[in-house]
Amino acid sequence: MPEPRLSEKRAAALERCREAYAAAKSRLADIGFTCEGSLVERYTCCHNPNCRCADPTRRHGPYFQLSWKEGGRTISRILSTEQAALYREWVDNRRALEAVLEEMRDLSREAAEHLASEAGVGFVGPSRPRRSRRRTR
Ligand SMILES: [Zn+2]
Repeated sequence: MPEPRLSEKRAAALERCREAYAAAKSRLADIGFTCEGSLVERYTCCHNPNCRCADPTRRHGPYFQLSWKEGGRTISRILSTEQAALYREWVDNRRALEAVLEEMRDLSREAAEHLASEAGVGFVGPSRPRRSRRRTR
């Protein structure tokens, strides 16, 4: 089998980008409402030596804390268990949204590089992936 010409390889790579991009777009359609910030489960100690929480396995909680950045500051609020269930879903939705957007940016970048190269011009832009995301919940 003859080695495909560079442009054929590139056309195939571009087609893969288009298909993956279309798949990413269709996943976007399923993502529900989102919420900024991160949700953590906290267990606390009241420092009363006679309290059950003196045992590290029997701390008070869980308390659900939502934190977000606003005006350069981190703001935190305690949520009820019922609120936490909703916010968990919205925060997870936002992470899913960001992951799909990041994938779409990467695919766009790859496609743009192929197109620029095919046109005989270099691609101009920041190097990707731009950063590795911190994974916190
Ligand atoms: Zn206690």
